[in-house]
Amino acid sequence: MRLECIECGSGFKIHERFYTCPRCRGLLEVEFGLGELKRKLNRKRLKTEPPSVWKYRAFMPILDESKIVSLGEGGTPLCRCDRLAKEVGVRELYVKFEGANPTGSFKDRGMTVGVTKALEFGVKTVACASTGNTSASLAAYAAKAGLRCLVLLPKGKVALGKLAQTLVYGAQVVAVKGNFDRALAMVCKLCEERKDIYLLNSINPFRLQGQKSIAFEIADQLGWKVPDRVVVPMGNCANIWAIYKGFFEFDAVGLTRGIPAMTGIQAEGAKPIVDAIKRGLDKFEPVKKPETIATAIRIGNPVNGPKAIRAIRASGGTAEAVSDAEIIKAQKLMGRLEGIGVEPASASTIAGLKKLVRKGAIRRDERAVCVATGHMLKDPEEAVAVSSRRSNYQRFMRRYVK
Ligand SMILES: *Cc1c(COP(=O)(O)O)cnc(C)c1O
Ligand SMILES: [Zn+2]
Repeated sequence: MRLECIECGSGFKIHERFYTCPRCRGLLEVEFGLGELKRKLNRKRLKTEPPSVWKYRAFMPILDESKIVSLGEGGTPLCRCDRLAKEVGVRELYVKFEGANPTGSFKDRGMTVGVTKALEFGVKTVACASTGNTSASLAAYAAKAGLRCLVLLPKGKVALGKLAQTLVYGAQVVAVKGNFDRALAMVCKLCEERKDIYLLNSINPFRLQGQKSIAFEIADQLGWKVPDRVVVPMGNCANIWAIYKGFFEFDAVGLTRGIPAMTGIQAEGAKPIVDAIKRGLDKFEPVKKPETIATAIRIGNPVNGPKAIRAIRASGGTAEAVSDAEIIKAQKLMGRLEGIGVEPASASTIAGLKKLVRKGAIRRDERAVCVATGHMLKDPEEAVAVSSRRSNYQRFMRRYVK
């Protein structure tokens, strides 16, 4: 197990606390030796135990298992959605409902690993910038671990549910004037100067390893088969990469065969990666003023953009942008047709898949999985605002009560 720079290929010891490559500032990734992985795997246990992040601990970069900080993350439902499949236009559609995690988003899968690393490194304070879900999750895991938690949030722009969670879990909240990208730049600078504060944004290579478990669970829940396509909303772009890497590692050790076409969705007002993919570029142009109702993906300068571009290209996937109107429509469809309540960023996957099918960009006979990253109750104000008004009381009574 070692840290490796995705740009220059330099390797570093796994005990190092780097966030980026000290040689070229490229993104780091945890690379596992195949032999080591195969040795650590308990195949019998894999086939019998129910899914959860720590079921796949052989693939997690932990040195001291006694330090694991867990709130019971992972093991989320993979819902087969036949009504929604018909509406979207694919043969078989599943929704991986990440809203069922302890704090209501997939971020918990990363934080259980990230906060465990914080304990291994012996720090007392953890920090992040966030549009809301990262801070809710970090605050909860820091509380469980007995660590101090510092979060920088864009002032006045955080969904109510996410803010409430962050406060109740006891984080110290700093409101930053400006958007998420600015808050992130500030917390990165802080953690560079103060070595006693451990940064747990998605630039952290350890956190991403926990998020690979989404791929592991999808394969596990489909009977050790991989789907044709996995659709993921892209904000800072850590998740699409992590899921790709999860499928890659399962394939490498021979647990499954093949990698799904990784398909990334962004909002029209914040789509730097979609633009790069459509133009066939390796580098992306940051968006100065990102705007969308889907606050979790309202990000103009995605930290893990280079990883997302690699994951999409290497898996033969694609990327698409959707409007806020399309997102809201998809959010309601998921609720009304399947009883699945998600926040807008998650609904973008259904909207994006539908658009790609309609355009003829992907085949209708596919088996696709959409990753519903966060729970509807994260952003209750949005959910109420976009829903149709209540029926008029008097008219209702006249009609249904004698
Ligand atoms: C964080 C988040 C995303 C974006 O994930 P990235 O890894 O930043 O691309 C999407 N949806 C929800 C609900 C999130 O919390
Ligand atoms: Zn490098």
